[in-house]
Amino acid sequence: MTPPAARVLELRGICRDFGLEQSVPALSDVNLSLDRGDWLAITGPSGSGKSTLLNIIGCLDHPSSGSYLIDGIDTAQLSDAMRAGLRSHYIGFVFQSFHLLPYRSVLENVMLAEVYGHHAPAGRRERALDAIGRVGLAQRADYSPMRLSGGERQRVAIARALMAAPSVLLCDEPTGNLDTKASKAILDIFADLNRHDGLTLIVVTHDENVAGRAMRRVSIVDGRLSEAAGAPAPAPARPPAPAAGRDVPPSR
Ligand code: ADP
Ligand code: MG
Repeated sequence: MTPPAARVLELRGICRDFGLEQSVPALSDVNLSLDRGDWLAITGPSGSGKSTLLNIIGCLDHPSSGSYLIDGIDTAQLSDAMRAGLRSHYIGFVFQSFHLLPYRSVLENVMLAEVYGHHAPAGRRERALDAIGRVGLAQRADYSPMRLSGGERQRVAIARALMAAPSVLLCDEPTGNLDTKASKAILDIFADLNRHDGLTLIVVTHDENVAGRAMRRVSIVDGRLSEAAGAPAPAPARPPAPAAGRDVPPSR
């Protein structure tokens, strides 16, 4: 049995119904557990519920029913402020569009992520430079995002997400705007963060190459999640489980 400290996320019987005139709910009876250091790919047709699921996992949306536990804490028991705190300590987001500020440098874009975060301002610049180095852009820290390629912009967005030292990184079509070479660079960064930092990754993707790098795959069709058919990719080396407690951040 998995030791409790390793279980990061648990969704039990999650439904999300937007009402309106949907023929099926956006999510129906979704059950999913993730352990620390898992790398999950979520595939499925457009409109099948993938982003809805990520929004619930990221505490940006509430399920209509079912329960969602983060590190054993039932998120339904938390106030909005506590959920926001959990989100900023625990979860990083990367989207298909990079959402960078064009008239700020790479460094400023990454540093700005922390203005509303939980870290003290001291050391912010150093943490940002460290995150920028992690995504291989140390030489671009002073550039405007407008001078960067799409792949480099997405790497800045990943560096920005890393500023909170998240345990879980949620990525919604992170390579959807990128060519094969740029996508591979992003995947190499994900693999590094997963292997060396034990970051738990959830990646929604249409791209078979991206899904193939994950250690586990599920698909969603009409709001229903199932383990995807086909042999899973070889699992990356799992980092050792942290010794104790929920507040052990990934070492970085
Ligand atoms: P995917 O990311 O797989 O393309 P989504 O999760 O965005 O799909 O959407 C799943 C279904 O839920 C779609 O039918 C979509 O129209 C609906 N939906 C998503 N968000 C909302 C919302 N905020 N209000 C109403 N319907 C929504
Ligand atoms: Mg979507």
